[in-house]
Amino acid sequence: MEEESQRIIFDSIPAFVWLKDRENRILKISNHAARALGRTPSEIEGRPTEEFYPDEAGKYWADDLEVIHCGEPKRGIIEQMVSASGEKFWCRTDKIPYRSVSGEIIGVIVFAIDITERMVAEDELRKKTFELEGSNRDLEHFARIASHDLQEPLRMVASYVELLEHQYKNCLDAQALEYLHFADEGARRMRDMIQDLLDYSRTGNDPAPLGRMESHMALEAALRFLEPAVAQLGAEITISELPVVRGNGQQLTRLFQNLIGNALKYHGSSKPRVQISARPEGSHWIFRIRDNGIGIEEKDFGRIFDLFQRLHSREEYPGSGMGLAICKKIVERNGGRIWVTSSLDEGSSFYFTLPACGSLTKNT
Ligand code: ADP
Repeated sequence: MEEESQRIIFDSIPAFVWLKDRENRILKISNHAARALGRTPSEIEGRPTEEFYPDEAGKYWADDLEVIHCGEPKRGIIEQMVSASGEKFWCRTDKIPYRSVSGEIIGVIVFAIDITERMVAEDELRKKTFELEGSNRDLEHFARIASHDLQEPLRMVASYVELLEHQYKNCLDAQALEYLHFADEGARRMRDMIQDLLDYSRTGNDPAPLGRMESHMALEAALRFLEPAVAQLGAEITISELPVVRGNGQQLTRLFQNLIGNALKYHGSSKPRVQISARPEGSHWIFRIRDNGIGIEEKDFGRIFDLFQRLHSREEYPGSGMGLAICKKIVERNGGRIWVTSSLDEGSSFYFTLPACGSLTKNT
């Protein structure tokens, strides 16, 4: 093919293109590939490829050699290149054997696409994820240490308060006894909070790998725990067919237990009715726990999943505000997300997703 028409074809290809010989020299390069390298084609043609790679030219050349020796194309190779001004950029390259008219492999044809922007975005995302994982780890570490170390001094406070109450009961007036009672109550509450915090920091750290799990089995285990409350309230529980998912069985039981437990606890004036169902969406299942309870205002939809966040006083409803934080942790550890929709006095629907693993199974 004539030099002139070869150049026209070369330059009309939207990707960067160059031809290399078997000695890793660039024989020919398209105009915009040369421009990306900050040079003209004539400044590049005939030069060794190493000059256009920052430091890993040797590693990349191994791919070219494989193409030359096997006679098969190699695709999707990520390579970093460097321009005349020292600016580095990432390319995704396809390498194809370059044959002479007689069919002999005389080098490699390279098609490359600049993917720097994507690589930078991915790099940023990786960095952010790493930072976030780090700060979550720190937070958990803090919660574990703090809750563990706080137990001892708290036990001391509680036992001295108890001692005071018992041994000095007769020497103290009613007001002093009332103060002691408050101190005792405070210590108990703090003990419960520390227990909850420890519980939270341990949740989801189960090293068992996430496996195939029949979600109705986890639900049944949760309902066994909740049986007394269901019976006492005369609650009606409806369960649809539930899927096989990927996750940790014990954690899913805990999740159902917390969510259904709340559906029962925050019931309204009518008999509690709880519906549990799931529907597929893409590679996940969306579970729904629906109740006909007191409901939640929209402004609180987000914060109820935070640690110790409650919307009611202990006198109205017992609890520590930890249940949904644990649910969130479990769901996220199992590769899903959790959210709520609700209307005051009408009821709430808690949703969570889990990765799919097969089809629906029959519940019993
Ligand atoms: P706790 O029940 O111990 O307070 P949770 O973290 O489980 O802690 O719940 C946080 C808050 O969210 C509760 O205090 C309650 O106000 C609200 N809530 C949770 N589930 C429901 C529900 N099904 N219906 C109405 N309110 C709910």
